[in-house]
Order: sequence, then C-alpha cells, then structure tokens
Amino acid sequence: MNAPRGSNGLNLVENKNVNGTISSKPTHRFVCLACTSGAGHLVLGDCKDYYLGTPYTVDYWECESCGLVQQSPLPEDTSIFYEAYPIHSEKGFIFTWFRKLLMTGAYYPAKSTDTRQRLLDFGCGDGWFLENCKSKNFDLLGYEPEPSHASRLGDRLGIPVESNVENLLAANAGKIDILTMNFVMEHLIDVNRVFAQAQQLVRPGGVFYFSVPDFNSIERRIFGKKWHNIDAPRHISFPDAPLIEKLAERHGFRVVKSSGLPFLSGFAASIPVVLTGRFRYWLFLLSIPLSYLFNLVWRTSCRGYWLEATNEGSLG
Ligand SMILES: [Zn+2]
Repeated sequence: MNAPRGSNGLNLVENKNVNGTISSKPTHRFVCLACTSGAGHLVLGDCKDYYLGTPYTVDYWECESCGLVQQSPLPEDTSIFYEAYPIHSEKGFIFTWFRKLLMTGAYYPAKSTDTRQRLLDFGCGDGWFLENCKSKNFDLLGYEPEPSHASRLGDRLGIPVESNVENLLAANAGKIDILTMNFVMEHLIDVNRVFAQAQQLVRPGGVFYFSVPDFNSIERRIFGKKWHNIDAPRHISFPDAPLIEKLAERHGFRVVKSSGLPFLSGFAASIPVVLTGRFRYWLFLLSIPLSYLFNLVWRTSCRGYWLEATNEGSLG
C-alpha cells in the first residue's frame, strides 16, 4: 500500500499513533472545497473507519462561510480508502434481494415515460441501479472511474459503462435527460467540478438527481462519529440544502425538490459500532426492525435532491 499523503504533502504514515491508526492531522490550513474560504472549525475529530477497519483517521471541519462540513486536510489520493470496498464487487442473489428490499426507496425513482429517455448513472458502483432500470424505457449509460471495473461491469450488464470522463463529456454533452448520482457526491473532492460536468451533460430541462447523507440529521446527532453514514475516511464532505441551492444556481440548475429518503442501513449499521466498536453484519441484520421503526418517525438520515437544468449558471 502506498503511504497516504495529506493535502500539505506530508507523509501521513509518519503520524502513526500508538494504537496503530494513521492520523491525517499534521498542522494544516483549512480550505473549503466548495467556496475556498480559509475560515473553518473542527466539528468531529479522530473519526475512525468503523466499517472496513482501514487504519486511517480523519477530522471533519465546518466552513464558516458556506457551512460545508468536510474532511480537513483533504486527502490527495482517495483510492487507498477503497481497496476492500464491497460496493464494487458483484453480489449474490440473497444480498441483491435484501438490498432491493432495504434500499429501493433511497435511489432515484426511475419511471418509464412514453418518450425514450437517456439516463446516465454517474458512479454506478456494482451496477445495481442500472440493472433495475433495464426493464424500463431508457437508453442506459454508466460511469465508473476505474477502467477495468468499468469494462467488466459493462460486459456483465450489457450497458455501456464509460471510465474516461473526457470521453463521457465529449460523447454526451447536452444529451442526457436524467443524470443520477446515488450516494456519490459525498465521496468527491471537487463538488464544483462535478456540478460543472453535470451542467455540460444534462440537456436544458433535464433532471440532475443526487442523494447525500444529511450531516444535520437526528441520526448523526444521536450516533456522532459512530454514525454509519459518516463512513470515514471515504466520505469527504456533506453538502446541505442551502449550499446545494448555491451550487445549483452557480452551475445552471435550479432545485425543484428535496426530500428525506428511507435509508435503513444508516441507523441499523450504527448499532453494531455503538455496541461492539465496529461494524458486524449479523448485528446489523438484527437492528433492521428497530431501524425501520425509527425511519417511520425520522426519515432524515439522507436527502435526495431533484435539480432541473436551466443552463443559466454564472460559470457557463
Ligand atoms: Zn465554504
């Protein structure tokens, strides 16, 4: 494994703690990834990887100008966080069925219309969402940045999966009717760039949908740094509704709707961490009924945002 390097270029392995975790906290200057403000304060420190158990710990800061909660310092290379990430592997039948039961409501509600529409799933993971759209009236397309993964996935699904973002933009500029990013935005270092890419891709009047964990949710307040949806170190930032309004306006979109999503995994996967100090699958399964009841009352752990392309952005 290559040594992770912080945004200030220091080798983070040199900050190894006595308990074996790797800290990303050499002295650094906060820079907001959305508005470039240098004014921020710590909100959650020493966040461990409770899900996969990688040795990295990170801090989350809040920008005092735009309110974005993000990692600081920012990692230069996030690929080291994903070496054992199960979202990119093909799943068995039971897992797939179970996920459909738990997660369908948290993904874009893709419905067929009389007119065939072009749908791009940006960050399509293991292709589960695209596969579920195959029976509907869409021309489907996926994007995943890792070339060999994209190639294998495309072959398996029988759907084109692009891995080169420049090629994706060149071939599809202004042609996408529906752009989806299901739980992708929080993994990205440059949210302005991804909004600019969305602006290039989506035709005027088209839809840009994405879902993100809600850092201000009651679940996060209950579980703190043990909340599953923090998913340190893989989650880089947590854009909230006021910031998303600003990003949308800047990049030629308007927010049509936002709503809390049913996402049972957030609560159910936090319980094992609270009780045993790390994620455990069997305890996660046992916690699902309690999570279901919790979500009946507080469906706020993640939010979905529906944006419409107006092509009137201040940057393009
Ligand atoms: Zn900011």
